[in-house]
Amino acid sequence: MDMKRRDFLKIAGISTIAGIGAPAALQVLLKGEVPASSFASGGAEEETGHGVAAPVGRRYGFVIDTRVFAKDQGLAQKCINACHRIHNVPDFRNKKDEIKWIWETGYANAFTSKSHNLRSDEVHHRKYMVLCNHCDNPPCVRACPTKATFKRPDGIVAMDYHRCIGCRFCMAACPYGSRSFNWRDPRGKDDKTGRYFIERKHLNKDFPTRMRGVVEKCNLCVERLAKGKMPKCVEEAGNSGAMIFGDLNDPHSEIRKVLASTFTIQRKPELGTKPSIFYIV
Ligand code: SF4
Ligand code: SF4
Repeated sequence: MDMKRRDFLKIAGISTIAGIGAPAALQVLLKGEVPASSFASGGAEEETGHGVAAPVGRRYGFVIDTRVFAKDQGLAQKCINACHRIHNVPDFRNKKDEIKWIWETGYANAFTSKSHNLRSDEVHHRKYMVLCNHCDNPPCVRACPTKATFKRPDGIVAMDYHRCIGCRFCMAACPYGSRSFNWRDPRGKDDKTGRYFIERKHLNKDFPTRMRGVVEKCNLCVERLAKGKMPKCVEEAGNSGAMIFGDLNDPHSEIRKVLASTFTIQRKPELGTKPSIFYIV
């Protein structure tokens, strides 16, 4: 067992015994991993939002232009449906058991640390697309005792469903609520109606279904990237400009040009997780 995992188990044990919640445990998980400068909200280091620890090589990220989604009311749902369909995300039709890879939420939920005073009503009432931030400094990865969740060299925070033991430490560690737990068998059907949680006609045989007791989340369409395709949500958004995907480490990429020329915000940047999703509000 390496040092980080040993540290985490110690923290998990202490937090359980002491009754400290996930936010406190998160601070311990992040401790010593985050350069102080990454807490600042300006300066050259912020160019990619990842600071000095940004890896070399390809580093994927998104810019989400929330103004475009606000103008085209049906677009967000189109992206959500497309993502959920190709990834066999079950629909339990029940908030309590809901599995979400990408979804919409309100301003105050998405940007908890931003001042909510004197914002325009329109910005306040807009819905914001949220998903796993594929953080550069991901507490979920450190929290996972089996390495079922891991960070790839290109920054994608991926999951090996076969290794997930359902302990949900990663869910407690993620400060963005980006992970869902399968309380029910996603491969099953509703006893009363006979409806499959993954509609048979939409079943994607090229992507694995999950089991009860397994955590899941957005995988940044790693299976599509491997084939040279764009993430499905980006494909659905088309040329609307709502979602710009690209290599954050390439100074000539479209995403870097947008970041260099437009003011963007990230979710909870003060936590030092260094999200790879940037928002134009
Ligand atoms: S958003 Fe949450 S689940 Fe995604 S990488 Fe960051 S900490 Fe992990
Ligand atoms: S990147 Fe892929 S998996 Fe992630 S939200 Fe978009 S479509 Fe879904």
